[in-house]
Amino acid sequence: MLKGIAIAWLLLFFGDFLSTFFYHVPEHVFGSLHLKTHHSWKKDFHHYAIQTFNQQVLLDGILGALPYLLVGVVLWIFSPIGVICGLLFGQFHVWWRHTSILGWETPKPVNFLCQVLFITTPERHWLHHEKTNAGFGDIFTFFEQPAKIWLSWLRLIRINLRYSRI
Ligand SMILES: [Zn+2]
Ligand SMILES: [Zn+2]
Repeated sequence: MLKGIAIAWLLLFFGDFLSTFFYHVPEHVFGSLHLKTHHSWKKDFHHYAIQTFNQQVLLDGILGALPYLLVGVVLWIFSPIGVICGLLFGQFHVWWRHTSILGWETPKPVNFLCQVLFITTPERHWLHHEKTNAGFGDIFTFFEQPAKIWLSWLRLIRINLRYSRI
């Protein structure tokens, strides 16, 4: 039981780490797919909370979820049930963190629990939809600060790349 929980946590930790630093933040600087599907003012994000078939949203979701699946493959030998639970929690969290648009509010005890466990609440994730510079860390809040530093570095690299092309 304890081993399963530990493996599920490790999957979410490394999945969120890889997804944030190798897909989400670089996509903010060099890409357009995530910005179009996740941060466009024209979108109401109902499609995240209630799954609808939209190829671009699906692709952004698959690319963001890929690191979790890769970590799942590595951790599978230690605890298959832990991997399955971790992936299920990850998918549940995607739906849950997009419920703000449905007018749902996180109950106080749940909010408190999330603070203790450093888990991103829908309210905090909503900040990321509104301000592309805030609210990084899809599942864990402690990735926010390093993600911001990584974002600044990548922006500097992008500027340098542009200058070197001139
Ligand atoms: Zn979102
Ligand atoms: Zn984003």
